[in-house]
Amino acid sequence: MRFETSRALDAIERRLTVDPLAAGGVIDLVEAARSVDLDGGRPAALLRLGQFIDALSRQLGDGNTGLYAITERGSMSDTDFTSNERMVLRRWSDDSLIEMLPPGARVNARVREVAHLTGVPIISRSPLPGHPGPVYLTVGAPGGMELTLAPSAGPTPRPHPVLARYWRCPASDCPTLGRPPANGAGQPPPALPSGAPICPRHGDRLLDAGPRPPAMTLAVRINGNVRSRFPVTALRPVVLGRAPEDPNGITIGNWLDDESSRRVSRNHLRFELRDGMLLVTDVSTNGAAILNRTGPSAPLREIDLNRGEPKAMGEWDEVEIYPEITVGRADRPPADKPTGAAPSSVMADAPTIALRLPQPPR
Ligand SMILES: [Zn+2]
Repeated sequence: MRFETSRALDAIERRLTVDPLAAGGVIDLVEAARSVDLDGGRPAALLRLGQFIDALSRQLGDGNTGLYAITERGSMSDTDFTSNERMVLRRWSDDSLIEMLPPGARVNARVREVAHLTGVPIISRSPLPGHPGPVYLTVGAPGGMELTLAPSAGPTPRPHPVLARYWRCPASDCPTLGRPPANGAGQPPPALPSGAPICPRHGDRLLDAGPRPPAMTLAVRINGNVRSRFPVTALRPVVLGRAPEDPNGITIGNWLDDESSRRVSRNHLRFELRDGMLLVTDVSTNGAAILNRTGPSAPLREIDLNRGEPKAMGEWDEVEIYPEITVGRADRPPADKPTGAAPSSVMADAPTIALRLPQPPR
């Protein structure tokens, strides 16, 4: 059983990230790990994170979406976790797979801050009235837990100006903000308790490490399931199509059948980020339409794109280039529930008994 637990934790670990460009949700790690109502098992269990990752994957139709998990140092000495789990938490923290706050820090406030600054949705066990941005709540526990988007308190704020710079923590070997992110990756947002950017892990005032071009991650979905994710940055436009000439273009020809191959152009759409806004231009022969929504449960309106004319996309909008082939933000669920096979589960190797074992009487 120990072996199965570590295999399942490895699968969960591969989906943890503090890169907002790779994350589909931000969560209070301990709140999720303490969701006893999901299975009636131990008071705290890291394996429970897997249920949240799986539910998020089903929402997004994306078996690779990341979870941005936040906790504080006290959790590493919380004896409701096994000694192995506390060791795993320390490793996740040292490897910068999770965000570790100082002891006793208000994790919930940081979860809201990360979501507010980056636009990544929050996953919460209880409603967060007034939070300007998407919040997933859990429904259907115990057993088959699912996520559902709570009615939004308003549109997601535009990316904060602090994200237009890279930041570096002066603390030596800071796993969170110690080194510049790998090429193409994002960076955890600074903490802004009083306006000045500080390291969420150490509290040190951060050093400005140069300009950062705004970036956003888009996903190509076929029948609602993600086939490809790609970044759009303010540096240069991205062309998507059956077989774009641009070597940096996004090729989708491999996933098309005979009929859709005839309808999707070599160069079909051009995406660019300008002034924090995502613009799409139809450069195809057969056209494309925006599936417009003002919110997750707002009615869907289809707006044809005028060829060659850039059009601003809202956060819930998708572009349809052929029936059931869409492009939209990777961190927003598609309007149509994904059909076909569900994304693979990180819990495939989890020993069910580890979570479902009833508590011994005290
Ligand atoms: Zn630091």
